[in-house]
Amino acid sequence: APTKKTEARIEDAHQLAIGVKKEVDFSTWYTNVLLKSDMIDYYSVSGCYILKPWSYTIWQEIQHWFDDKIKELGVENSYFPMFISGKVLEKEKDHIEGFAPEVAWVTRAGSSELEEPIAIRPTSETVMYPYYAKWIQSHRDFPLKLNQWNSVVRWEFKTPQPFLRTREFLWQEGHTAFLTKAEADAEVREILELYRQVYTDLLAVPVVPGIKSEKEKFAGGLYTTTVEGFIPTTGRGIQAATSHCLGQNFSKMFDISVEDPNAANKGDKLFAWQNSWGLSTRAIGVMVMVHGDNQGLVLPPRVASVQVVIVPCGINETTQESVYDACSEVAKTLKKAGVRVKADLRDTYLPGWKFNYWEQKGVPIRLEIGPKDIQKKQAVAVRRDNGVKTTLSVDDVATQIPALLETIQNEMYTRAKETFDQRLIQVTKWEDVVPTLDNKCVVVMPWCEVEACEDDIKERSKSTEQTDERAPSAGAKSLAIPFDQSKWEPIVPGKTKCPACGMDAKRWTMFGRSY
Ligand code: AMP
Repeated sequence: APTKKTEARIEDAHQLAIGVKKEVDFSTWYTNVLLKSDMIDYYSVSGCYILKPWSYTIWQEIQHWFDDKIKELGVENSYFPMFISGKVLEKEKDHIEGFAPEVAWVTRAGSSELEEPIAIRPTSETVMYPYYAKWIQSHRDFPLKLNQWNSVVRWEFKTPQPFLRTREFLWQEGHTAFLTKAEADAEVREILELYRQVYTDLLAVPVVPGIKSEKEKFAGGLYTTTVEGFIPTTGRGIQAATSHCLGQNFSKMFDISVEDPNAANKGDKLFAWQNSWGLSTRAIGVMVMVHGDNQGLVLPPRVASVQVVIVPCGINETTQESVYDACSEVAKTLKKAGVRVKADLRDTYLPGWKFNYWEQKGVPIRLEIGPKDIQKKQAVAVRRDNGVKTTLSVDDVATQIPALLETIQNEMYTRAKETFDQRLIQVTKWEDVVPTLDNKCVVVMPWCEVEACEDDIKERSKSTEQTDERAPSAGAKSLAIPFDQSKWEPIVPGKTKCPACGMDAKRWTMFGRSY
């Protein structure tokens, strides 16, 4: 007998470009969207994917924006090698403990075994910091602020998913060193704010900024701040980007130190306060999951490499030339107005085919122009995000289209934000936790912040129902302690209790099943 999933597939196959419904078989839907929009292709090494131009351009949009912003903060780009000797990698104990299971090693060159195996960076703290120690000799060498745009390798054993969890991924990693903790603390938050803006302003994806629990913080760091995202279809949280304060753990291991500039303390050694922060191509996957629909990808205008596609409609041999001319003319006008536009004048495809093609690729606006439109000096704009059609005067496109793109961007964000807000559920009784998670929501509850309690919550919140075959219903972990606690009732010290263990609660904390 056909399963629920194949039934849905058969029933909808004729009307769904993507083949399966987002709500029915989310993981197949996701990979189909990525393949049909031509964002990725599979690769012969498991857990690795090819980023085709349709997704790589989005990465470049993020890159340009973020790169400009960090340069304003005085950060400079550089490049460090991808190889690390085992000895150096193992220098910071907690750090290597966290990463060891995922490190890939080079053990052979040609047919000869290497004397010492060489690790491929899973992140570059241990690659860079021996040189920070060399370059920072006096307090005048602070701050040191370097970033690199590179790839790292983490041989993940959880099921890989394009963008979200891959064995090699693109990211930026910033590494900074300061004389004082106060400077380091301030920068951690400045960077986190930029990450928030990448998600909310570029990708139209809502995130909650907060701090990670001790259990979930970066291995070897002092504390980790995060922007947490949410995938409504599965009800799972996702760590969207992280900005870590490393404290002095690494500087003590690698001896990144200077003589105290204060004359009274002459001769004293001061260790650097360090941060590291990273944003990966995961962002693209989150954007696809949040906005995509049963027709395929839905791109927020700010990152779409094609924002408007012009499709000539209702033409015959006699009208073709004039309609094509009109399309090219409008394209020229829009281009001049700063719009990324494409006129699809391929005469080997019918308009209906083109509609479907560009819908799958998520282009925010389709402009239809036919012979009657030319007579009326108009064009019909169709929004990808909600299907709404508007007729525009051709004379106004240079102002109306940019305005419409702006509206789409804002409304996509607002819709996604409303969904996240509705699914972030305040809970104060343990018996409500699991049903809330099972209802595809994230819990926010007053929490004691004790590590053993977090382990216990994970154990007790495993679901009996299995909703997604590639992401078995694991228990909930703490996602973030939001910085903005003002949305919930103030926690009364000694009075508000943690619903999981009954001890005194400290702060409202988000718990969820996650990626
Ligand atoms: P981390 O250095 O572990 O804090 O990672 C920095 C950021 O990279 C995280 O916040 C994730 O969003 C992202 N990330 C971590 N692991 C992966 C992976 N396997 N594939 C893609 N992105 C990842």
